[in-house]
Amino acid sequence: MMLLENYDRNHPPRIYVHIPFCRRKCAYCSFYSIPSGLAGERVRAGYFKRLASESALIREYFNGDFPSIYIGGGTPNLPENIGYVSEILQILGNSAEISMESNVSFVTEDMLNMLRGRITRLSVGVQSFSRRDRIRIGRYDDTDLLYGVLLPARKCGVVSALNLDFITNFDKRERFVPLFSKFAEHCGNSGFELPEHISLYSLQIEQGTAYSRLVGEGLRAVPDDAAQARQLKREWEYLAGMGYEHYEVSAFARTGNYCRHNLGYWTGDGFLGIGSHASSRCYFSDGTGLEIKCGISAAEYAASNVFSGYETGHLGRTDIAVELVLAGLRTKFGVSVSRLGELCDPDRLERLISFCRKSDGLVVSDGSIRIRDDMMLFCEYYIRRVSDFLE
Ligand code: SF4
Repeated sequence: MMLLENYDRNHPPRIYVHIPFCRRKCAYCSFYSIPSGLAGERVRAGYFKRLASESALIREYFNGDFPSIYIGGGTPNLPENIGYVSEILQILGNSAEISMESNVSFVTEDMLNMLRGRITRLSVGVQSFSRRDRIRIGRYDDTDLLYGVLLPARKCGVVSALNLDFITNFDKRERFVPLFSKFAEHCGNSGFELPEHISLYSLQIEQGTAYSRLVGEGLRAVPDDAAQARQLKREWEYLAGMGYEHYEVSAFARTGNYCRHNLGYWTGDGFLGIGSHASSRCYFSDGTGLEIKCGISAAEYAASNVFSGYETGHLGRTDIAVELVLAGLRTKFGVSVSRLGELCDPDRLERLISFCRKSDGLVVSDGSIRIRDDMMLFCEYYIRRVSDFLE
């Protein structure tokens, strides 16, 4: 219960549930995930049993509904996971937004019907409509299911918002725009709404992954920074032309369908995560906070007591201010100056604002510091400059 006692029971936080089981490991993936078959039924059953127990204690502790719930992975929609996921969602209860990550290969009508009334938002990992690209990054998914199952199933109203995740910058050939155009054309011809939300990330080469070894051996090329920026710029312009609002560096929403859960992270809301590699943030009225992390294997999580294995670290005001900048400047809403004022001394804040006003890429307006829309491609540079002022 130690984890829960850090939180004010009258302010339920956003909830994250980590499910680490996947069908197989993708070549580029640096997250903690474990092939479901390797974990085995005993570990999986124990893992979900503990998640259900922690969920029940969380539900009992907080008065009121959670602002959002996010089931992430891993691959929560593996057929062998869905019954357990449905049970956990039933325990956690209502929320204005309940998202679940999913792999397009396991999207079926049965899965959607089992989650009817339990989720509001489905986030589907497509990564690329090009089979060649998917094979290059070690994904063998069947994106035809998107056309054949998911788009038709939306008419039954199982979810009110659909997000598709894509990866770009595999190499110098541009494929996202032409392939997404074909998809959009299919949606138009078939009377299907375009997805409410798109996430588009550049392929990251993470140390220790199979993909990074292929790059090291010269078997995969990586476009240079300038080529990546050119490609991203064209893709961002294309999505804007399709009616998507670019509200975070990798996130695009139609008709205001932001991911509220992620917006909460980006704007500095506290959250509570459970699972073998979940993390949490808890903020106190004196401006300090706690970072709570679990970093144990699925088998250890399954075999140990509820709320054990979560390590707690102190967050000072400066840590929290830097986190706010790191996340907030990636959004079109920026970072609230008054929130920074609660965390930094007045002189430092004044120097920061004066720097931002002189900078060609930053804007101070409506009580926020933001990166200019046309400078978002260089957001890492501006984030570094602003966070340097705070440390
Ligand atoms: S499905 Fe997602 S979490 Fe699982 S291995 Fe692939 S990238 Fe990693």
